[in-house]
Amino acid sequence: MKIPVVFSEDFYTDYDTVDCENPDRISSIYFKIVDMAEIIEPEPCTIEDLKLCHSDNLIESVKRKEELFYVATKSAGGAIKAAEIGLKRPAFALIRPPGHHAGYNFNGGFCFFNNMAIAIKKLLKDGKIRTALIVDIDLHYGNGTYDIVKGDERIRFRNIDAYPRGNFMKDLKDALVDAGDFDIVGCSAGFDTYIKDWGALLTTEDFKTIGNMLATSNPHMFAILEGGYYVPDLGINVRAFLEGIMEACL
Ligand SMILES: [Zn+2]
Repeated sequence: MKIPVVFSEDFYTDYDTVDCENPDRISSIYFKIVDMAEIIEPEPCTIEDLKLCHSDNLIESVKRKEELFYVATKSAGGAIKAAEIGLKRPAFALIRPPGHHAGYNFNGGFCFFNNMAIAIKKLLKDGKIRTALIVDIDLHYGNGTYDIVKGDERIRFRNIDAYPRGNFMKDLKDALVDAGDFDIVGCSAGFDTYIKDWGALLTTEDFKTIGNMLATSNPHMFAILEGGYYVPDLGINVRAFLEGIMEACL
């Protein structure tokens, strides 16, 4: 059995961003997981999709950088594709740029469009779901996602950022208590909580446990890549995460 992984070589594009959010992140993951993955190429999302979550001003500001705009719409399109597959079986989007710091009318933190919020809002608009739980396990608070989904009663947003490690895992467990009641669970999967990354918190084995907890809580789930900057181990951590998900599906 292979896990659907939404991926495009366009994510290797060296668009204008900070040095640490580089194409090596994607290649280091790709080569570690390709043997377990069913690779699916996404389409770029449409302007209409972007407008579900972002102001015209913000969209125009990214559009001025043509190369970046194309990859960012493909990244959001990748999240949409993973979410659509996630309605049938767990899927992962290996995408960049990340998205969870992009709000309705602002962006930052290496993010341009909010991939997760766009994916969820699109499924809602298309009538494919009525409710969604978003769980953000990145080291950093998903301020952009919160900005977009706050006040929308169909969506619950949980950001897991407790310290130390034991509290993080407990917080996640609490967040998933009634995950099965939602039509879909979307995970903003950042790996910068890793013990050798900025967060200095979680082990590779923890990512496997987390993947397993998510897919056990609700088989209708998908995860998308957010942060994660310790490139030497990024691939093994994503692999562990996906193994945890697959074990839940057996
Ligand atoms: Zn982060």
